Amino acid sequence: MKKHNFSAGPCILPQEVLLKASEAVMDFNQSGLSLIEISHRSKDFVEVMETARDLAIELLGLEGKGYKALFLQGGASTQFLMAAYNLLETKAGYLNTGTWSDKSIKEAKLFGEVVEVGSSKDENFKYIPKGYTIPDGLDYLHLTSNNTIFGTQINKFPVTDAPLVCDMSSDIFSRQLDFSQFDLIYAGAQKNMGPAGTTLVVVKEAILGKVSRQIPSMLDYQVHISKDSMFNTPSVFAVYVSMLTLQWLKDMGGIAAIEKINQKKAQLLYSEIDLSPVFDGYANKNDRSIMNATFNITDEKLKDTFDNLLKEAGINGLNGHRSVGGYRASMYNALSLDSVGVLVDVMSEMERKG
Ligand SMILES: *Cc1c(COP(=O)(O)O)cnc(C)c1O
Repeated sequence: MKKHNFSAGPCILPQEVLLKASEAVMDFNQSGLSLIEISHRSKDFVEVMETARDLAIELLGLEGKGYKALFLQGGASTQFLMAAYNLLETKAGYLNTGTWSDKSIKEAKLFGEVVEVGSSKDENFKYIPKGYTIPDGLDYLHLTSNNTIFGTQINKFPVTDAPLVCDMSSDIFSRQLDFSQFDLIYAGAQKNMGPAGTTLVVVKEAILGKVSRQIPSMLDYQVHISKDSMFNTPSVFAVYVSMLTLQWLKDMGGIAAIEKINQKKAQLLYSEIDLSPVFDGYANKNDRSIMNATFNITDEKLKDTFDNLLKEAGINGLNGHRSVGGYRASMYNALSLDSVGVLVDVMSEMERKG
């Protein structure tokens, strides 16, 4: 039986995508060859890469606005340093909203001065800082749109003259935003787009080429742009599956359509968390993520019963991150409203037992 997969990452992907991907592994486009045993320079694969890049730009509404999409390797973690390598000349601002921002700050400090414009570390990242001041003269301001571990999400993005860099690993393609307010967006594929192994980078070309340092080729956005994401062998499988997922999203009506479903899923789960005396939400209500919902069980003695019920219902991946504890339900695009319904049924059964 297929399980209800609430895993935080690598995450659930649409069934039809998994099916098509497995077919391509055996026989790609009726070529008698596997997708993963052909040249990345072959016409068939070049077309995959182009389609994937075009779909990303199209779904984000960035056509004709001076952006390039790249599929790179090294995960979002490599983007922590690559963003700084390419953009940080003297001083950059960082909003610290959790573990991933913390890690990006650590890398940026290797390249220049880092101003932490705001932080919610004082409350273990339960909230998104607001009303912070952004100093003048920043090379860029770095944000993490969704905090996968703590279950918070930025709803209102700051307005600033500095270029905006955003780690959208865990909420890209999940909600409508004016994506042109960002100058650099990056996202590891494995949260909401595909398997691990590739990272989507969407960059406004005009912000590049301004730092004085030499940049190693593999870490230089301009090199990857000039080679159409084929400077070296790309992760062909991860790019292909990402392309299929983006196609799936486009066919269902794009970000506008998926956002409606994502809102419904989040409402269903959060209203159960708020109603039930057995569970307590972790993140501040105003800053709750529609992708990752974090909550605790109020009476630890009920934990085993709950865990057993989850198992019986075929629910996978609900354990909280080790730095927060409790539970985390990740409701990425491919997770159905029905799966959230199954979880909510188990939670209300707990109420009767609690
Ligand atoms: C998972 C995650 C990362 C790390 O991604 P890798 O691809 O494993 O390097 C970075 N940022 C956010 C917001 C994440 O959720």
